[in-house]
Amino acid sequence: MIIASRASNFVFFALFEFEYALKKSRFTEFFVQHNAIDKFGFREWIFSPGMLFHSQHKWWEKGGIRRRPHEGLDFCFYRDMTGLNHSLNEKTKIPVMYEGKVAGIHDDFLGKSLFVSHDFYDEQENRLYTIYGHTNPYPYVDIGRVFREGEAIAVIAATRKRDSQILSHLHISVAWLPKSFPYNRLSWETMGNRGVATLCDPLKFIDGNYTIDQEGIA
Ligand SMILES: [Zn+2]
Repeated sequence: MIIASRASNFVFFALFEFEYALKKSRFTEFFVQHNAIDKFGFREWIFSPGMLFHSQHKWWEKGGIRRRPHEGLDFCFYRDMTGLNHSLNEKTKIPVMYEGKVAGIHDDFLGKSLFVSHDFYDEQENRLYTIYGHTNPYPYVDIGRVFREGEAIAVIAATRKRDSQILSHLHISVAWLPKSFPYNRLSWETMGNRGVATLCDPLKFIDGNYTIDQEGIA
């Protein structure tokens, strides 16, 4: 239904005879600001294949097959300008991708998931949502609260406290949902329902360089 091209600053959608552009999120730029990464400079995100959208594979523990294809993108590592790799942790601040309203806060298996609705619509009147998983939201983050583009809404949830073998990481999903979809029906189950939600590859919406490490990251 939606074909997104690899354009630089815009995400282009070809929907039937229509075409329109949604500006790419400045997520990485805001991420660097909030987390004071500019000291050594941010070079690129590092993803292993299992972190990517629609991957069938786990990238944690000993690997294996996911229960369902990955609904988004996992952020766990980046490289600075000196070539050093860094991992995200429970102090890492998470900016919101676009101006939007908090539409749902739900527990997930590592922390909380924040569902944010945006005033962007496709030609079928579907609304854009971004979802931030495995987070520890700031206390002032409530349903209905509006955030400006790039404002920090949470830090990454600590996984060590949960005795988890999974490294702390941020999961981002990008989805289109019907305009009138009620906030109280938002959930991960909804996102997995193809009749309701259309999930997209977050890499098409997010600025900044990235590399895919085929060997995986130890
Ligand atoms: Zn994930």
